[in-house]
Amino acid sequence: MNISTSRKWFDQAAAIIPGGVNSPVRACKSVDSTPLFITSAQGATLKDADGNTYLDYVASWGPMILGHAHPEVIAAVKKAADMGTSYGAPCRAEIELAELIIDCVPGIEMVRMVNSGTEATMSAVRLARAITGRDKIIKFDGCYHGHADAFLVAAGSGVATLGIPGSPGVPDSFVQHTLSLPFNNLESVTSAMDTLHGQVAAIIVEPIAGNMGVVLPQDGFLTGLRNLCTKHGTLLVFDEVITGFRVALGGAQQLYGVTPDLTCLGKIIGGGLPVGAYGGSKTIMSAVAPEGNVYQAGTLSGNPVAMAAGAATLQLLKKTNFYPELEQKGRQLFTGLRVAAEKEGIKVTVNFIASMGSMFFHPGPVTDFASVKESNSSAFINFYKYMRESGIYLAPSAFEAAFVSAAHTPADLDKTIEAASTAFKRLVSSGEMG
Ligand SMILES: *Cc1c(COP(=O)(O)O)cnc(C)c1O
Repeated sequence: MNISTSRKWFDQAAAIIPGGVNSPVRACKSVDSTPLFITSAQGATLKDADGNTYLDYVASWGPMILGHAHPEVIAAVKKAADMGTSYGAPCRAEIELAELIIDCVPGIEMVRMVNSGTEATMSAVRLARAITGRDKIIKFDGCYHGHADAFLVAAGSGVATLGIPGSPGVPDSFVQHTLSLPFNNLESVTSAMDTLHGQVAAIIVEPIAGNMGVVLPQDGFLTGLRNLCTKHGTLLVFDEVITGFRVALGGAQQLYGVTPDLTCLGKIIGGGLPVGAYGGSKTIMSAVAPEGNVYQAGTLSGNPVAMAAGAATLQLLKKTNFYPELEQKGRQLFTGLRVAAEKEGIKVTVNFIASMGSMFFHPGPVTDFASVKESNSSAFINFYKYMRESGIYLAPSAFEAAFVSAAHTPADLDKTIEAASTAFKRLVSSGEMG
């Protein structure tokens, strides 16, 4: 595949933007590849600067559940843009998106809009600390909650991809209140909560981990966290920036029937524009300024164009059968990948739920960050390269999820499984599978 224009632009970018990218994983460093510069996106496909087209499973890292450039979303954006792109004053679209979110997400009665998932989690934890009057937070190894200081401890996503434990520039004193524990290990949480009795403001968790690849919560894990939080007066924060509106209209909390005290959203709720949100009960959210005194603000928060994109997206998700149909596609792709690997005698573990999933070169089970890290990374790198050569665009990291959108057709998914089949054969014949 000719990617000479992308190579040229990447060199140009690298001279003036750190690493040539505005978010680290995009640089494709861990898969030893040149990032593709995208010039347009439509439905399930991306087109790069050299005119190659790809079936896209990155979905802008989650938001594009409807596929790219959905006509109703684009029409809403254009209509909003024609009326001005930002007011810095209230607008009707804020109410519309807030109502849609509150209608769908069980744990949200009141919601505040921000501009990214990072802002949502950072603000939710500030609020939890203010409400409880406590400092400590518990998070889980391999979960990613954006790039705020307090979360850069044993984090997933780019932090994991680049293999860095935390980040320089984060003072020890900023993370001394963050305790990171193994995902799915309720015993370790129980004992930490006992030891730290009365000091933990919040437990923050991705109810379905999606930033170390996909790792599902085991039976009783989320309920156990809920019970521990209730017992210790700690707030349970679900970071549903990926899972919100992805695994169900009401997110993972609806799917598993566990209601958190605070919910963080992002990605899908912006329909491809920069939006995040955090919400909870009226009592808790009333502590946020100006109703309460927990300060949090944003020049572009509730931006009319972004609100319009989000509202148009959520309206489409509410159509009957949207989720069952998308789930069927997820099942087709993710079971197809597993079967194709098994046919070649390759032991993989495919974790998936609804339309998000990931394949680990690991015999399994993959239940936490430790098992994720045992997977065969060089096999993944070569798999990634073969797939991209065949026009299948996967996240350039073994620590990221793949997303199926409503725009993927069964034929697209079959084509993807066929490409994977060929990739598996090549891995075997190159001796990669040892
Ligand atoms: C993407 C993500 C974030 C951060 O969102 P940004 O919009 O990138 O700041 C936080 N939490 C989870 C679970 C995410 O997947």
